[in-house]
Amino acid sequence: FFITFEGLDGSGKTTQLRRLAQYLTDTGRTVITMRNPGSTPLGDRIRSILLDSRSEATLGTIAPHTELALMFADRAQSIAEVILPALEAGAIVLCDRYTDSSEAYQGGGRGLGSEPILALHKALCGNLQPDLTLLLLPNLQTSLNRARRRNQKHIQTEGTDENRFERESDEFYARIHGAYLAIAVRETGRVLAITDDASIDLIELQIRDAVEARLP
Ligand code: C5P
Ligand code: MG
Repeated sequence: FFITFEGLDGSGKTTQLRRLAQYLTDTGRTVITMRNPGSTPLGDRIRSILLDSRSEATLGTIAPHTELALMFADRAQSIAEVILPALEAGAIVLCDRYTDSSEAYQGGGRGLGSEPILALHKALCGNLQPDLTLLLLPNLQTSLNRARRRNQKHIQTEGTDENRFERESDEFYARIHGAYLAIAVRETGRVLAITDDASIDLIELQIRDAVEARLP
């Protein structure tokens, strides 16, 4: 069973993923947690190329289509190396971001549109769809404030932005938010959108219920 978590930075998806993993493990399930980009040796290299805020100085500006291609190179590797073997072994796979992130960030944010993402997903990912996608979509300003507060802390302790995307404009994030909403409307069978600003604990329970109702 394959579950993905989606949402803007600061939407709480990583926290919810950890809590769900703990709950599923406590109830006797085998769980694999991972993220896109990352979670394979090659994916970790791609992640640092894509996210390191110092990339620009060494690599120059990454063109939007290059960014998209690298995201899919990472994803294809994570499917081959982690996701398919885990699903075949009967594990529940929890993945922090997947193809919906490409549709939201590169398709919406960078303005490439959905078509190239859906085509690449077919060509490079065997069109492997999650059984369930938990889309955390609180108020845009709420996520932005949280992400920026976290980034300020990161700058204080590490001297650099948490990642290359932290300096993007409000309009960039508004386009991502809009693209996520469009995905939720199109993919009603797969995507559960949680759009209220309920407490972390309440959302955790909502997610548990949704997962328990769908697990085979
Ligand atoms: O949420 P996570 O820390 O994994 O994401 C790291 C960053 O990568 C996020 O800030 C997000 O903006 C960016 N990203 C992206 N396109 C993707 C996946 C992640 O721009 N397809
Ligand atoms: Mg982040």
